[in-house]
Amino acid sequence: RPANGGEAIDNLAMWRGLNAPNRPDTHKRILVTGGAGFIGSHLVDRLMEDGNEVIVVDSLFTGKKDNFAKWRLHPRFEFFRHDVTEPFNAEIDHIYHLACPASPVHYKYNAIKTIKTNVLGTMHMLGLAKRTGARFLLASTSEVYGDPEVHPQTEDYWGNVNPIGVRSCYDEGKRVSETLAFDYNRQHGVEIRVVRIFNTYGPRMVLNDGRVVSNFVGQAIRGDPLTIYGDGLQTRSFCYVSDLVDGMVRMMNQDSFLGPINMGNPGEFTMKELAEIIKELVNPKLDIKYLPATPDDPMKRKPDISKAKNFLGWEPKIALRDGLVPMVEDFKKRILGAPEESDE
Ligand code: NAD
Ligand code: UDP
Repeated sequence: RPANGGEAIDNLAMWRGLNAPNRPDTHKRILVTGGAGFIGSHLVDRLMEDGNEVIVVDSLFTGKKDNFAKWRLHPRFEFFRHDVTEPFNAEIDHIYHLACPASPVHYKYNAIKTIKTNVLGTMHMLGLAKRTGARFLLASTSEVYGDPEVHPQTEDYWGNVNPIGVRSCYDEGKRVSETLAFDYNRQHGVEIRVVRIFNTYGPRMVLNDGRVVSNFVGQAIRGDPLTIYGDGLQTRSFCYVSDLVDGMVRMMNQDSFLGPINMGNPGEFTMKELAEIIKELVNPKLDIKYLPATPDDPMKRKPDISKAKNFLGWEPKIALRDGLVPMVEDFKKRILGAPEESDE
């Protein structure tokens, strides 16, 4: 880091717990992996608005530069196109580690790459946290519970996960990420925070990522039938992205609790109910088309968020019907306004 007038400082221990001499104590230098993606870019907005320095590391596999366009020329913002399966180096105070394809379509596209991202990528970021003394937050997932036999899911439930299925690259990958985080904490004293994120939605979701909310909203805007996989009685709980980001920041900034902690909206909906809500919001005349269920599809999912309430005073504020409104607006602009969305 060019500090003290550019003089290199070799004694890394000196950096532990120290703020850089060229910036005030009031804000942090924060690395966000996956910061060009859906959740990551909303997190970047929040961290920038709070006055921090933000470094985004992203391979742009599913993320887009458009998602952080408003910060690109800002002096507190930097972007590196980089794949986290390779090491990355910087002097930072906090790491939010989100880099990983999140929708089934994307994580199954190159399953081996997905598991490498989860294992090697998380190891590299934990190694960086160890070296710099940075606090590390892992964006884990409700998928670590697999097809759960306990409902709603509490953090002490160990899950019901198929280790050799088509989803395993993602859910077993995230389980290993969690293991690595706790081992780096026990063995090297790295300050970790583990957040298990449940289904999240909002503006900037990838249009064709195959997830249910983005599929239904996109189909509704185009006037196509809404596609329900299976009988539509499977349930999910949907959290608006700003609620989630608020929870992640609270988790990072509290001083004692490592996690894991569930973050999601405990409101539970069947896919049939979700389809009806989106029809009401966009076009009540739409048809529903039933397609075969996907393999290993969990039948029920709903977070128990007692820990988040007790430790962080956090709970989601935005109801599904309200959160869908800005998402529909964003999708309308992107689908009707710019039919050929850019890759950037
Ligand atoms: P997203 O696909 O929009 O974002 C993921 C980002 O990671 C993208 O910008 C992508 O380009 C980047 N990326 C992927 N592989 C990479 C690699 N090897 N190196 C560098 N960058 C890489 O997905 P999202 O919904 O924003 O998810 C972000 C994180 O949150 C993921 O870790 C995901 O597992 C977790 N999560 C999301 C949800 C959800 O409902 N969206 C639920 C649970 C957990
Ligand atoms: N789903 C659906 N129609 C779609 C896309 C998904 O019925 O067009 C179902 C899917 O089978 C699953 C639920 O919606 O039961 C949530 O799927 P998603 O991929 O959004 O998230 P995840 O399965 O990872 O929770």
